[in-house]
Amino acid sequence: RPHTLGTMTDTPTHCPYCALQCGMSLGGDGAEEAPGGRGLPLRVVPREDVPANRGGLCQKGWTSTELLAVPDRLATPLMRASRDAPLEPCGWDEALDRIVSEITRSQGAYGPDSVAVFGGGGLTNEKAYQLGKFARVALRTSQIDYNGRFCMSSAAAASGRAFGMDRGLPGPITDLGRADAVLLVGGNVAETMPPFMRHLTDMQKAGGALIVVDPRRTATARQANLHLQPTPGTDLALANGLLHLAIVDGLLDEAYLKARTSGFEAVRTVVNAYMPERVERITGVPVPYMREAVRLLARGARSYILTARGTEQHARGTDMVTAFINLALGLGLPGREGAGYGCLTGQGNGQGGREHGQKADQLPGYRKIDDPAARAHVAAVWGVDPGDLPGPGRSAYELLSALGTAGGPRAMLLFGSNPVVSAPRASAVEERLDALDFLAVADFVPSETARRADVVLPTAQWAEESGTMTNLEGRVLRRNRAVRPPGGVRTDLEILAVLADRLHAPGTWSAEPAEVFEELREASAGGLADYSGITYARIEKEGGVFWPCPSEDHPGTPRPFLDRFATPDGRARMTPVEHGGPAEDVDGDYPVYLTTGRVLAQYQSGAQTRRVRPLADAAPEAFVELHPDLADRLGIAEGAAVRVASRRGAATVRARLTDAIRHDTVFIPFHWAGEGRANLLTNPALDPMSRMPEFKVCAVRLEPVPTP
Ligand code: SF4
Repeated sequence: RPHTLGTMTDTPTHCPYCALQCGMSLGGDGAEEAPGGRGLPLRVVPREDVPANRGGLCQKGWTSTELLAVPDRLATPLMRASRDAPLEPCGWDEALDRIVSEITRSQGAYGPDSVAVFGGGGLTNEKAYQLGKFARVALRTSQIDYNGRFCMSSAAAASGRAFGMDRGLPGPITDLGRADAVLLVGGNVAETMPPFMRHLTDMQKAGGALIVVDPRRTATARQANLHLQPTPGTDLALANGLLHLAIVDGLLDEAYLKARTSGFEAVRTVVNAYMPERVERITGVPVPYMREAVRLLARGARSYILTARGTEQHARGTDMVTAFINLALGLGLPGREGAGYGCLTGQGNGQGGREHGQKADQLPGYRKIDDPAARAHVAAVWGVDPGDLPGPGRSAYELLSALGTAGGPRAMLLFGSNPVVSAPRASAVEERLDALDFLAVADFVPSETARRADVVLPTAQWAEESGTMTNLEGRVLRRNRAVRPPGGVRTDLEILAVLADRLHAPGTWSAEPAEVFEELREASAGGLADYSGITYARIEKEGGVFWPCPSEDHPGTPRPFLDRFATPDGRARMTPVEHGGPAEDVDGDYPVYLTTGRVLAQYQSGAQTRRVRPLADAAPEAFVELHPDLADRLGIAEGAAVRVASRRGAATVRARLTDAIRHDTVFIPFHWAGEGRANLLTNPALDPMSRMPEFKVCAVRLEPVPTP
């Protein structure tokens, strides 16, 4: 048994995985054995008092305690003597000495930016904050970014452009149950966060309509009142076409546009050209379907437009989201109670992870790193001179692409991420990692990226430590420690504190989450994501607090923008955007679109969920979903091995035939390593604003693998 119970009573906490952050209690008397006799000490009880899940959990949440005892859990540091030597167990001092000496050597020879830091959207707010501070103060490097750049950065950029601020959902999740309609674009919540569906089902039972936009007839689309199935990469044209129809059908909210927005006339000029028949030709969505979607959205004042990765992970992702925000503004939805535009964040702390300084261009409080006032405020909290803070660095894919190149970072410290599986054009990322002089990875399992490291530091995981998470509503929640971590591991905060000490970094470096949160509150004060009024005690008492919350007597802000948007003039900015198609279109050599996504039983790169037996049994390997007509043309049978090739690489996966996908499109989930790795194929073309890669569409060809 790797663990013993730290307490005898149930501990309220939240799921280790997605941004819904379902509430659960962990309990048990230590004698309890989980089904299968795997020696798990805890039972999971879903919490009724958490609005996001109201007593529900998905399969990942129910089995989450198995993560605490996965067979290859890391419990001692590992180190390799040279690049060709194997990773061998070593002591903590030895591992930390090696990291410090490699940092010192690299920065002595090549300067501060020769050391990079890569973070993750699953890290707690405290860790995200401390990692950003560690990079800028202890390492004085500008080279920090995180895997959230691959998640929702286009929605963040589009929301910032339109509203002056980005904060996930526009209000409490329970508002959705009273909506007249929800247009969900590029999200499959029935698989990715099943308890979310309860809110949509509540809405449908009360007469509201769910409209889903997805090239696949997903589990979510099957429950929709209306499903629009566009060609991948054409969402922007669809959104402009919907706004065109709203204009010609007299469904605009003219009074709202006049009172609360700017820029509509320029948008009107552009969408005038998106005649319904033209949009049908581009998207493949029949005009009556588009017209019905607009009618449903406009029939009441309480409607939502929600985007997810399907809209955002594009080389024009910011513009795609902007087009849907324009539609929402045209219908008068944002800034009204029980209505609006929102982004469904994916990773557990995808929201908080982007607010506290892990991003290359940001400081805590969602401040811009090149804003002199922001630099002065944060530098004062950190006890350094503002002039000593580095400027903006490279975005995630650009950072990974620069590793080991002339002028690029020579060493990297990576926390809570697995880019070997999750980054686009993954084989090129592997090459860059291997070109580094030194790579250190902190993780609790030997992920595919950790296995390439020179030093691996074993960390505590979710139920073994405390901290806060900010869920997709913008509600700050507390995760509580329920068990002691196994001997031999340390928390990420402990690792950062000891490294900062050994590097003689200025300022204080606590390893206690509560103390780090107090500093985070101070650093965020006055910023967009102002946490200064949020305390651990308040979160516990109130079941979570919405940011911004500028003082302890402030109630928090469940619904921002009710009075004004966070722009200088308080109006939402409408920006005209034009359809341009995907960065890589289909042609004679690569005639089929590939889109990627997730399945119910796996999460992100699968580093965690592939190790949980019931989840691995439910979803054991990658597959390619394709239409039977396409399979017939290519001579591919159900279950056959298929080689899927793009201009960047090839993957071999089993065929799954279904008429739930378009004839011109195939789908591969991205959770697996090895030859079924979807990101061997994906296109790293970047959005110019968000620097989001185009995960969601590229051109491929398929051929059956001959059986021996
Ligand atoms: Fe966990 Fe997300 Fe499943 Fe809820 S929906 S149990 S947060 S993985």
